[in-house]
Amino acid sequence: MQTVRRFVRRPRRVPSCVGPLRPQMPLQAPARRALHLAPPFLLDDHTPRYLTLSSVDAARKRSRAYAHLRKCNLCPRRCGVNRYETTGMCLIGDTVKVNVIAPHFGEEPCIQGHHGSGSVFFSMCNLRCVFCQNHDIAHQRNGQDMTPEELGDWCVPAAYLKLQEVGNVHNINLITPEHVVPQVALSILHARDNGLTLPVIYNTSAYDSLASLELLDGLVDIYLPDFKLWSTTSSRRLLKADDYAATARESIKAIHAQVGDLCFTADGLAKKGLLVRHLVMPGLEAESAQIMKFLTTDVSRDCFVHIMEQYHPDAYVGRPRARAKRAATDKGDNASERRYVEINRAVTNEETTCVRKAAEAAGLWRFCDPPRHDGFSL
Ligand code: SF4
Repeated sequence: MQTVRRFVRRPRRVPSCVGPLRPQMPLQAPARRALHLAPPFLLDDHTPRYLTLSSVDAARKRSRAYAHLRKCNLCPRRCGVNRYETTGMCLIGDTVKVNVIAPHFGEEPCIQGHHGSGSVFFSMCNLRCVFCQNHDIAHQRNGQDMTPEELGDWCVPAAYLKLQEVGNVHNINLITPEHVVPQVALSILHARDNGLTLPVIYNTSAYDSLASLELLDGLVDIYLPDFKLWSTTSSRRLLKADDYAATARESIKAIHAQVGDLCFTADGLAKKGLLVRHLVMPGLEAESAQIMKFLTTDVSRDCFVHIMEQYHPDAYVGRPRARAKRAATDKGDNASERRYVEINRAVTNEETTCVRKAAEAAGLWRFCDPPRHDGFSL
């Protein structure tokens, strides 16, 4: 347990790198805040939400999930296809394709704990981020096909239950599930009937529809949405989705209305609420600052935020353009024309610091920071 200290928040200077936003930054009165492991963010105990769902509500969710599969408008791509017969933009039908199921130690300390987070990596995605940091899973159909029941009942004991009982993990972490929400809902209901008792995490790009989040209401305990980019121009160019930012804004507001701010039990593990992730992108600090301001003003000043600095060029970034590649091959030299050159580098310390300062200036104060000592910290 951390020592509870009083934390007095002072007005902060707006960093010069977010100059155009300066006039809009609110003046902040000093306020008293508790640490994020103190009340009201400290829970005595937590019962997963799916265990409190009535059998009538569970049956309603089942029938709604099957209906969505028969005419899929569940994510903002709105393909309208019958997924028992064909596939839409996500290229996944009525089953799921699972790439990996295993305890995972690459998450935030409050999620992975000492035993890891029970992660289920779904293949494919409804976004097409050109810099995807996970593109071998999200852009390629790699993995094993499973029905929702098999996902719950994969080899006996069930996949989720196996993670719970053999892996001794702290939670079930569904990674990139936006395009398989009906199957996920059915599998959670199936696993609950077979003894699952761990909190469920929905680890999303935030490109979710409100109908999708409504289906998940009552089944998911923790939401981990990314908020990637703010502008339509960047979303169109880098995510291949013009409406990403508008969709993410609505999704994150709806998620917060469902589960509130991130709460922990006394062991330091997150059990319920919203944790927003933001990957700092090269040269896009001004968009990051807009996102931080939105979280403060439209979601919650107590929003728990992880500002991530591990961006690296991947997927299509830095690849030779096809035309340049052909010309270079003809001439027998290396292609010089590269794709997405503006993000073909790592982020600098200055860029990350700038985003952090913008978040603090906006009024956010609950961050996922590395421990200030050498030991493991929850
Ligand atoms: S989940 Fe897949 S099929 Fe359904 S609307 Fe989205 S992209 Fe289309």
